[in-house]
Amino acid sequence: MEFVRRGLSRFARPIGRIIYPPVCAGCGGALAEAPAVCPGCWRSLRFIERPYCEVLGLPFSYDLGRGFLSAEAIADPPVFARLRAALVYETLAARMVASLKYADRADLVPLMAAWMRRAGGEAIADCDIVVPVPLHARRLIARRFNQSAELARAIARAERLAYAPLCLRRKRATLSQVGLGPAERLENVRGAFEVTAGREAEVRGRRVLLVDDVFTTGATVSAATRALKRAGAAEVSVLVFARVAAGAG
Ligand SMILES: [Zn+2]
Repeated sequence: MEFVRRGLSRFARPIGRIIYPPVCAGCGGALAEAPAVCPGCWRSLRFIERPYCEVLGLPFSYDLGRGFLSAEAIADPPVFARLRAALVYETLAARMVASLKYADRADLVPLMAAWMRRAGGEAIADCDIVVPVPLHARRLIARRFNQSAELARAIARAERLAYAPLCLRRKRATLSQVGLGPAERLENVRGAFEVTAGREAEVRGRRVLLVDDVFTTGATVSAATRALKRAGAAEVSVLVFARVAAGAG
C-alpha cells in the first residue's frame, strides 16, 4: 500500500505542476517554487518576532529582555497559558485568512501552516495534542471547510503530533464574531464549546495546542480553552495565523 501511495504521488506531482504553475500566494505572480510569496508581497507581511509579550505574543517596540509581559497580560491574565501568532492581522495576512475561509483556497494551507510552525516554537514543543477551534456542524456543512482544522491538521502532521479534530465541539451555533464589539463577542461565545462526550480522555492531563486562524479579542479561544480545562486539560497554548496587534481583551 505504501508503495502504491508513494508511486502515485511521484506520478501525480509532475502533472500537478503542469496544471497549477507555482504562483505567489499574495498577488498571483509567477514564482519558481510554490508555496511561497514574491519579494514584494513578502515585504508587506509583518511577521511577529521577539521581543514580544511571552503570554499574549504582542510585539513590543522596545527590547526589554526575555520574559517581559505586556500590561494587558498583567492586568487581565488570559485563561490560556500563552498565545503565539505568525503575523499581524492586516493587509495580505488578512486577505490570506479571508481567502482560506471564504474562497476555499486550500492551496494556502501549507504556507500558512509553515509560518505558524515557525511562530509556535515552545508552544509546539511543549504540547501533546493539537486541537482546532471547531465550527458548528451547520456552518461546516454550509462552508464545507473548517479553515482552523486544515491549519491544525497540517501543523500536527509536520510536527508528528497527535491531532484531535473531534474532541472539541460547538454546542450551539454562534453568530459570526465579525462586526461584534468586545462585550458582544464574549457573550456570543460564552459556553459555546464543550469536549465531546466520550472523548474526555483525549484531553485529560494533556497539554493542548489550540489552533485558530485569527485572534481578535480572544473571546473564542478563551471559551474553547475553558471547555478544554473543564475536561481536565493540563495546559492550553493557542497558536493562530494572525492576531490584531493593538490591545487584547
Ligand atoms: Zn506577490
